[in-house]
Amino acid sequence: MRYFLCLIFCLSLCKINGQVNTGITDDGRIIKIPVVIHLVKKGKKHNVPQIITKEIIEKELKDLNTNFSAQNDMSTLNDYFVSRDLIGKPNFQFYLKEVIKHKRHKRRAKRIKRVDPDKNLNIIVGKYGNASPCTLAEGYEPEFIQIDYTNFGDGSQTVTHEVGHWLGLFHVWGIKGSCKKRRTLQSDYVDDTPLQIGCTDVKRVNECPPIDASSKPNYNNFMDYSSCRCFFTKGQVKTIREKVIKFRNIIFTNSID
Ligand SMILES: [Zn+2]
Repeated sequence: MRYFLCLIFCLSLCKINGQVNTGITDDGRIIKIPVVIHLVKKGKKHNVPQIITKEIIEKELKDLNTNFSAQNDMSTLNDYFVSRDLIGKPNFQFYLKEVIKHKRHKRRAKRIKRVDPDKNLNIIVGKYGNASPCTLAEGYEPEFIQIDYTNFGDGSQTVTHEVGHWLGLFHVWGIKGSCKKRRTLQSDYVDDTPLQIGCTDVKRVNECPPIDASSKPNYNNFMDYSSCRCFFTKGQVKTIREKVIKFRNIIFTNSID
């Protein structure tokens, strides 16, 4: 199971300032996220609208829903997090709103027109690297995530990782972009993720536990790269729920049953 490293970039791709000062506090409700999936064809070789079937889409949505309700397999989880009761339950629900098939390839995913990015998670699936155009940080709202079609519905948890960025999480090594370039401890601005230098399993040998597990305390975290990533911490859950309320308030308020 191979997956590409993901990038976070933040230029003109993020809408500025969607903050709503509502005074609303989190009541723990299920946050319901409508998903718009864009399937982008790139020639005959990468006929993504044909390759990504209804069944693959259903599988990916099922994985997202399992992961974001902490119902997924956590049998590989390191005891450090279990014994400290740090496993978070995000309580998010994703449902398919629309699938849009694009016959003409755009060299950059940002050229694909998004559908109401304030209200929907737009996932652009094509012959692209995995990336989130910035994380939901102060003043910036990513309008989409982009996924290489080989990592969509493949069980690699790549989409969960990118949605984590879309919802406001940094990598567990605390910086934007590639982990290869960084060799110093930096915070991810979440209190209960241990500090970690760089990402796990950068050579992508896909062993679980990874060969560098002893020096990578967050190897189980969805915001790392290892093949046994399986959970968000309580601190990460608090972060993403707060950010949805603050920056995507319409999604939160629409989530009432
Ligand atoms: Zn990432």
